[in-house]
Amino acid sequence: MNERLRNDIKFLPGVGSRRAEILYKELGITTYEDLLYTIPFRYIDRTRFYKINEVNADLPYIQLRGKIVRFQEITYGKRQKRYIAHFADDTGLIELVFFQGLKWIQERLKTGVEYIVFGKPTVFNHKLNLVHPEVDEPNADRNLLQSAMQGVYRSSEILQNNGLGQRAFLRLQANALNVIQGQIEETLPTCLLQQYRLMPLYEALSNIHFPQNAERLQQAQYRLKFEELFYIQLNLLRQRNERKSVARGFIFPRIGDYFSACYNRLPFGLTDAQKRVIKEIRRDMGSGKQMNRLLQGDVGSGKTLVALLCMLITADNGYQSCIMAPTEILAQQHFDSIQEFIRDSGIRVGLLTGSTKKKDRRVLQEQLIDGSLHILIGTHALIEDTVQFRQLGFAVIDEQHRFGVEQRARLWSKSEQPPHVLVMTATPIPRTLAMTVYGDLDVSVIDELPPGRQPIRTLHFNDNQRLRVFEFMHKQIQAGRQIYVVYPLIKESEKMDYKNLEEGYEIISDAFPPPTFDTAIVHGKMSSDDKQFYMQRFIRGQAHIMVATSVIEVGVNVPNATVMVIESAERFGLSQLHQLRGRVGRGAEQSYCILMTGYKLSIEARKRMELMVATNNGFEIADADLTLRGPGDLEGTLQSGQAFDLRIADLGRDGQLLEYVRQIADDILANDPTLTDTQNILLRTRLNQLKNKTKNYKDIS
Ligand code: ADP
Ligand code: MG
Repeated sequence: MNERLRNDIKFLPGVGSRRAEILYKELGITTYEDLLYTIPFRYIDRTRFYKINEVNADLPYIQLRGKIVRFQEITYGKRQKRYIAHFADDTGLIELVFFQGLKWIQERLKTGVEYIVFGKPTVFNHKLNLVHPEVDEPNADRNLLQSAMQGVYRSSEILQNNGLGQRAFLRLQANALNVIQGQIEETLPTCLLQQYRLMPLYEALSNIHFPQNAERLQQAQYRLKFEELFYIQLNLLRQRNERKSVARGFIFPRIGDYFSACYNRLPFGLTDAQKRVIKEIRRDMGSGKQMNRLLQGDVGSGKTLVALLCMLITADNGYQSCIMAPTEILAQQHFDSIQEFIRDSGIRVGLLTGSTKKKDRRVLQEQLIDGSLHILIGTHALIEDTVQFRQLGFAVIDEQHRFGVEQRARLWSKSEQPPHVLVMTATPIPRTLAMTVYGDLDVSVIDELPPGRQPIRTLHFNDNQRLRVFEFMHKQIQAGRQIYVVYPLIKESEKMDYKNLEEGYEIISDAFPPPTFDTAIVHGKMSSDDKQFYMQRFIRGQAHIMVATSVIEVGVNVPNATVMVIESAERFGLSQLHQLRGRVGRGAEQSYCILMTGYKLSIEARKRMELMVATNNGFEIADADLTLRGPGDLEGTLQSGQAFDLRIADLGRDGQLLEYVRQIADDILANDPTLTDTQNILLRTRLNQLKNKTKNYKDIS
């Protein structure tokens, strides 16, 4: 189907092998299809002609009609030339300025001939001009460029220097459209086109590059986005259905003594959200199908306890569980807090990390094999091949974004059939993104914090106000509280970051001198032992202040810490700021998050600070993050190179459409799970085609 589209781009008239290489390097284009799906990021209205006396430098690209009255060559600097064409209509004069290609211009442009010029007005030397405008004779070449709106494409210097500027790019699009006209097949079934009033494929491609008018453009965009999101959802949903019907799952029907003993001894009641999620998981565990569930919950919402209670149910049914944390410190913390909850219940818990001694490892291994160990807590050390369980029934992955896809897949091989899997994340993944990336997982949400927590107060200060901040910190320490001070750590400038961190540490140590004050420092360059040592000092309350890089971002729980100072806060993304803020506000005391930034901020950075001050709601923040930064950028939310790649739709803006098409896909599969009805055959063919192009989502968890 649509072989034509898969032709090598070098065969397209106007390309050839050298340009093909450049198109690939700059824009990733290898086929006709790639080219046609490289769409304008904005459009310029070409129906309107301005009069020269209307022009001012604030206007965007404009179009004029008139004649060149004379040429002028100006030499400046050493042999540098500027070439000016004085252009006039019946209302005035404007300069067309060229710095390059003088010879070509001299040969091509004539005085007294009517031209249409197109460019961005600017002011230079108190005169209005258009620099390097497009100049056309009316009707020359206009057939292919005769659209009401002209697309503007992403470009680069390399593209421009190789004859692949905007104009040339448009011409390539026109060539491609010409070549495929009448030769491409529809990629959506007629029934869908009719039912949802979608523009046919060729028309859509044609109008996305050369819109006949704004309405046609809008229809074209809708059709292409619809299709893109629809197939992603259809694919994910079909895989989910397949997995549910094929993969058998362990059945854990019983609630027994382990669960009851711990549950009855909890020092607090579960929140309604926790209860609901446990019910959802129990339903999965009783269904005979393998569970694959994503548990989202803001920091401090009590996910770990939910996981623990489900691990106890697993133990009640004679199976083992494991929980995998992204760092040793976190694994240790899980171990300590779980020990507390299960004391005297007969449940046996082990801890396995990179620093577990060989001897202890051997003991753990024996207990795992003979089944006497119920729960294994650890870092990625627990997916090593040497770790074998007797009956692994349930695997929990905490803070999933630190784990690679393959690492998760390896858990599957630890059991005669895949264990139930719960992936927990504190990074609220916006719904649209979760549906796209994890569309084949079931999602549970804890949308409620345990009672008695006071909302964190967030304040924004600039560097000039540091003394006030120090004063405030003093007061908090006097009141017995502890404080985090966090510095950014961003790969490209690591050296500078460490310098900032060390300077910061010195400033803090000056303002809070020992022995009255105890300040600990933790960063990624320290040995694991040192890190542990200082972390533990802070966790035990021996250190008042913890100066750290963003390594503490994930999961640490120190309820007595009530102040989070984030240095150079403008360098963090919203989701990361929210994660960091979540380190405080875990106890009964009022907690504070202090965002320190420079005095001058970009508009975007200011927006981020304002949003942080305005809301504590992680989902709101994640959504804003998505719109502000775009999904490719959600640092800390997703691994880079995640398995989706949207060419036309935009997760930030097209969330509603995404939900709409997901429902449509779901309905189709409900009626025809294997997509074998005549009207659905096209869907199946198309899915298989797309599958060869994208990574397989099935093995994610
Ligand atoms: P998360 O992993 O979701 O960030 P945790 O599981 O670490 O959150 O829980 C944070 C703290 O709240 C822990 O000290 C935990 O014991 C406590 N906690 C959990 N559930 C409740 C509850 N229902 N009521 C009160 N405290 C709770
Ligand atoms: Mg946690």
